[in-house]
Amino acid sequence: MIIKPFIGVSVFIVVSLPSTKYQKMIDFHTHQPPVDNDSSVRSLLISEVDKITPHDLFTIGIHPWYTEEMDLKAHYSLVNEFAQRSNVIGIGEIGLDKHRGAPIEKQIEVFEKQVLIAEKLNKPVIIHCVRAWAELLELKKRLKPEMPWAIHGFRGQSELVKQLLSAGMYISFGPESLNASEGLQESIRTVPLNRLFVETDDADVSLKYLYTTISKIKRITTRDLEENINDNFAEFFG
Ligand SMILES: [Zn+2]
Repeated sequence: MIIKPFIGVSVFIVVSLPSTKYQKMIDFHTHQPPVDNDSSVRSLLISEVDKITPHDLFTIGIHPWYTEEMDLKAHYSLVNEFAQRSNVIGIGEIGLDKHRGAPIEKQIEVFEKQVLIAEKLNKPVIIHCVRAWAELLELKKRLKPEMPWAIHGFRGQSELVKQLLSAGMYISFGPESLNASEGLQESIRTVPLNRLFVETDDADVSLKYLYTTISKIKRITTRDLEENINDNFAEFFG
């Protein structure tokens, strides 16, 4: 509307309408089939590729726990083959774990091979990392991937968050956030809204409850958190 005040200057009043953008509550990383109308990305082990359906969203990869005794060559070609499907939207979870799986040198090799597949197929990478942060940061520096990387199920301290953020990574928080220590709450607050994801992982928890809890820790509305994660999702998998 235009109001003509007595001084004769036209003033435009901008009325902001409620956003009509389609919003979904996104589960960035889960091992369960999708529920209701949430939008979830289901992470499958390479031994589970038969669970890929035509319509849901998936990521696949050789998990660091299973880097030891299998026929890796055959598994790389499975990653390469299945990740070409348009609804397999990322490579993961892959990564490094000093508590389980093959010796770290072997895990680095398996991780690197899959990063190369991700780069070739233009798929982002979802990472499982336990006590191998220095190695992971070194790999990021050395490989200089074009595709974005996200750490899933993060439960570390904010000092580490800062290092991962400056290496350009996204960070996803899972069920541990429901009983977050002071340290984990600080980590959640340290991640800016444009680098954050929320996930249920393998736990039977309510996604909505996770969003509510994390938005309280970040002192924003759940709606705001949802909106930002929708944007991050488009950016990360875009
Ligand atoms: Zn997982």
